[in-house]
Amino acid sequence: MPDDAHPATTFEARLDKLAMLGVRVGLNLRAGQELVMTAPLDAMPLVRRIVEHAYKAGATLVTPLISDDAVALARYRHAHPDAAFDVAPGWLFNAMAEAFKGGAARLAVVGDDPTLLSAEDPEKVARANKARSIAYRPALELITGFAINWNLVPAATPGWARQVFPDLPEAQAVERLWDAIFAACRVDVADPVAEWARHNATLRARREFLNGKDFSALHFRGAGTDLRVGLAEGHLWCGGAEEAKNGIVCNPNIPTEEVFTTPHALRVEGAVRSTKPLAYQGTLIEDIAVRFEGGRIVEANATRGAEVLRKVIGTDEGAARLGEVALVPHSSPISASGLLFRNTLFDENAASHIALGQAYTTCLRDSAGVPMEALAKRGANASLIHIDWMIGSGEVDVDGITQGGEAEPLMRKGEFVAGPV
Ligand code: ZN
Ligand code: ZN
Repeated sequence: MPDDAHPATTFEARLDKLAMLGVRVGLNLRAGQELVMTAPLDAMPLVRRIVEHAYKAGATLVTPLISDDAVALARYRHAHPDAAFDVAPGWLFNAMAEAFKGGAARLAVVGDDPTLLSAEDPEKVARANKARSIAYRPALELITGFAINWNLVPAATPGWARQVFPDLPEAQAVERLWDAIFAACRVDVADPVAEWARHNATLRARREFLNGKDFSALHFRGAGTDLRVGLAEGHLWCGGAEEAKNGIVCNPNIPTEEVFTTPHALRVEGAVRSTKPLAYQGTLIEDIAVRFEGGRIVEANATRGAEVLRKVIGTDEGAARLGEVALVPHSSPISASGLLFRNTLFDENAASHIALGQAYTTCLRDSAGVPMEALAKRGANASLIHIDWMIGSGEVDVDGITQGGEAEPLMRKGEFVAGPV
């Protein structure tokens, strides 16, 4: 490869570019902002570089909160089962919410082993997840409501790499996963910041086309799938760079390929089958098949992890309804890699998807300051959870259903056939 195509050839240089992208494109961190980070211990080399770039960008204070797989497992193995699993660090999440209200940005380095908790008692896992969801809500609402600029950036950890490349020795698996991350995050180009500006322009054109159409519903068809997803009244397509309510334009996900919007929580009908496994907080849920009636899941099956899936759906009333629908071309770089990352940040960007649970209120017109009850009347779903799972593939077709009830081809065999393609 010529040097101008791959100027950052060493691992250290590519890692530094990824950290720079997280701060400059992902967060667009402003001088004078605080930054609250979360990251796995295995990602410290990336964390240190992000911290450097954050201070170079003018951060006043960077506070990384570090997690560790062995520490997480110790709780499930040794904590007293009767009391321990309904406890969550509300004090910590309240402090995070306070930091966000004070203007702090939020960056999460993600690299979890998707099967970390799969051998643990699903009852304990569900209780712990529920307690965490409730405690995290005040902070999460500020993130999902885009009160602040935020970003997720990936890191290859041994636990994750083992799942993606189970046949390779650990060191080689980690190296291959880093290569895949750098490719998916568009790091391996002469000017990653300019490349992201181009990519954001494509996503913007696509969402503007869909906003102009103002479809009443989307109709997905494929093997095991015949699903009509009604769209919320005044739904807005989002994707790529977003302006947070603090006025900062950020890229919440790196990588990202999706355009997404708010479905109508009461107008989803039919059957849908997942096209990729769902890694949900340590458990892998495979071959999900669910049926919706009046927007609600009335039947839920999976060949693996069905018990966890049903518990998730039972979290609250809104957990059985949709809060997001997203379109991703099958030719996205992540899909083209042919890898199953077993991580939603990647796999959701390889395929069109839906999410159970909380809607992004920013995907609704004129939603600023409007109470959730009023947005619910327009179809926005409310829940403690928000879980994306993949329903698109090279075999899935999507039609847009106009307000007049006519079907217009939107995607064929997983590719856009209308709008900027
Ligand atoms: Zn999504
Ligand atoms: Zn989502």
